[in-house]
Amino acid sequence: MALLDVQGLKVYFDTMEGAVRAVDDVRFSLGEGESLGLAGESGCGKTTAALAIMGLLPYNGRIVDGSIHYAGYDLTKLTPPQMRGIRWRHISIIFQGAMNALNPVKRIGQQIAEPIILHEKVDEEVAMKRVGELLELVGIHKDRIREYPHEFSGGMRQRVMIAMALACNPRIVIADEPVTALDVMIQAQILELLERLKRELGLSMILISHDLSVMAETCDSMAIMYAGKIVETGSVRDIFKRPNHPYTKDLIAAFPDIAGAQVLPAYIPGLLPSLIDPPMGCRFHPRCKFAWQRCVNEEPPLDPVANGHRSACHLNTSTPPPREVAR
Ligand code: SF4
Repeated sequence: MALLDVQGLKVYFDTMEGAVRAVDDVRFSLGEGESLGLAGESGCGKTTAALAIMGLLPYNGRIVDGSIHYAGYDLTKLTPPQMRGIRWRHISIIFQGAMNALNPVKRIGQQIAEPIILHEKVDEEVAMKRVGELLELVGIHKDRIREYPHEFSGGMRQRVMIAMALACNPRIVIADEPVTALDVMIQAQILELLERLKRELGLSMILISHDLSVMAETCDSMAIMYAGKIVETGSVRDIFKRPNHPYTKDLIAAFPDIAGAQVLPAYIPGLLPSLIDPPMGCRFHPRCKFAWQRCVNEEPPLDPVANGHRSACHLNTSTPPPREVAR
């Protein structure tokens, strides 16, 4: 049975221009000890899905439909105080841009201790002892507990943020773009650290990234998102070896292959559509080189294409008429 089960999740943002359908009928599940990658271009709804799970949507965001089941509870139905009991102690998050998320005028020890004191109801001495253990766990000497964020490098600050996410022994950690803005060597170290912590602490993890190579390193399964929808899901191996959806294929082709031919990576023409008035039918049709009239008229369902592998594309059930191209 899945530890976290998201079904039919819809999250909209109210704006002056209308409702932005940031997450629109998304479903995925996360098993005990599993790591799931949520991938896609910026603005496709990955972070919004994570914030909905954490109950941390901004003031104009609302869950319109769907459920988020965790440990027998539907998180969408919990009151704010009930949700505070889940957040950090059961599910925690390493925020995007975390390197700038630390308070510059507070010692890092105090910052990591805050959630421990708040949620575990322990005194400062006990909390600081735990902070020392957490720092050692993420590879920072505990003597640095009294230092300020500016005394740490980018990679070390990211380790502090990871320690903070682990402060209350959560079962699930969501890492939102955990290595963006770090140089390649440090990226590898942080991914190795996450992998080790997942193994040693038995964590389940949702890793959000626009970078497919990050998923290849660390995840068991992946969900590819486009314009608020999941277009393909499967094991990392299946998605890299046998990508099915044209968008997934384009995403993979957009990354340089150091073992392949010495050619420039491909790019995906066009931009993400407006999510206030998204395209009818398949949301990818304005950018898809295979699109035909059916793609404009009908939304493709996320259907199985192999064992544990699903894709939402009409090409799996029909052949486009010759020369009938929608754009
Ligand atoms: S359903 Fe049509 S437009 Fe969408 S990805 Fe498949 S071929 Fe392209």
